[in-house]
Amino acid sequence: MQAKSVAFHTLGCKLNYSETSTLSRLLENDGFVKREFDEEADVYVINTCSVTENADKECRQLVRRIQKRAPQAMVVITGCYAQLKPKEIAEIEGVDLVLGASEKFNLTKHLQDLTKGDSAKICSCDIEEVNGFNSSYSINDRTRTFLKVQDGCDYNCSFCTIPLARGHSRSDNITGVLNNVAELAKSGTKEIVLTGINLGDFGKGNEGGKRTESNFFELIQELEQFDGIDRYRISSIEPNLLTNEIIEFVAKSKKFMPHFHIPLQSGSNKILGAMRRRYKRELYADRVAYIKQLMPHCCIGVDVIVGFPTESDEDFKDTFNFLHDIDISYLHVFTYSERANTLAIDMKPVVPMNIRHERNKTLRNLSYQKLQYFTAQHVGQTRPVLFEGADKNGMMEGYTDNYIKVQTHHRPEWANQVVDWLIS
Ligand code: SF4
Repeated sequence: MQAKSVAFHTLGCKLNYSETSTLSRLLENDGFVKREFDEEADVYVINTCSVTENADKECRQLVRRIQKRAPQAMVVITGCYAQLKPKEIAEIEGVDLVLGASEKFNLTKHLQDLTKGDSAKICSCDIEEVNGFNSSYSINDRTRTFLKVQDGCDYNCSFCTIPLARGHSRSDNITGVLNNVAELAKSGTKEIVLTGINLGDFGKGNEGGKRTESNFFELIQELEQFDGIDRYRISSIEPNLLTNEIIEFVAKSKKFMPHFHIPLQSGSNKILGAMRRRYKRELYADRVAYIKQLMPHCCIGVDVIVGFPTESDEDFKDTFNFLHDIDISYLHVFTYSERANTLAIDMKPVVPMNIRHERNKTLRNLSYQKLQYFTAQHVGQTRPVLFEGADKNGMMEGYTDNYIKVQTHHRPEWANQVVDWLIS
């Protein structure tokens, strides 16, 4: 019998990408042949995101594209949006199976009982009951791999649907992480980005969500000892969980890169309170100052949301001035958008859409200036660059330890290698 083929499409964050990668390996182990999403396949899997604006529209468009290309193919929708709105998705014409958070990794089993033409089957449970942890990682490009070590979140930020889509905070244990790292090292991976929804909360075990003895600081200490991986990065960590000991450890580490991504969300204490964030801006400024005191060359990325309900011109100015004055390197700017079943959706007054977009633009300009300034500070320095293998029109790219992007003519012998590089 001819092997069945499967194609994947991922929307959203790095965690989703690493999960899609693992799903793809699981199916390949079960005999499926992997295809590109724009090729013909027997099964199409769309891993959705709840944060993406227009998740519903995007999903519909993708299903329509599949129907045109391969009308007989099975269409499976999974991911955060599938957990949040299973019924809405099941009603999209052409969808055969909707898999919620608990069922995502049982994809092969569900595919076996599926027949084309029946109405869409929903396999999902209440998010409160989702306790298991499935580790996953992406290995498309060996240079940098995203390894999921934690999932879910116990915080209750008023704008966020992630806890509803992914459930309680839970993690792999340290042995599990080390086993995955060993596999990745064997496959030639040079850099691992530790990934999670609330990574600093690492340590909650997969046994009914009960806290185990380990924590994030212990995890990074163990990883430092492990031979076979050159570099680690911490994808994103909440400011209140970024302790002095973690900062001091990274400052001394040979493997953890001088690069943090720390969500701020707002530089106004009033808005931080309304967002139910667990810190004030003073704590954030203190974290940044301590990092820069120990690692003046450290790259610091910031997530910020503009246009949160009740954000006045004055509050936005507060955010702008705060970000302007602290020594950060770049921003990821998000425009607030209303999400069902969140506390923020009932907060008034809302910020008109045109003002949200204006504020977004203002902060993106600030981000551009910050990044130029950060990069200019390093001109004339030699820093280690890990080059990626891809030949991009005769060029290749890589990142310094402190996340400055470098481009040069493609030299195959540098692919997946760390090279000392003079920044000019
Ligand atoms: S910390 Fe807040 S924003 Fe981040 S996933 Fe948890 S609830 Fe969402």
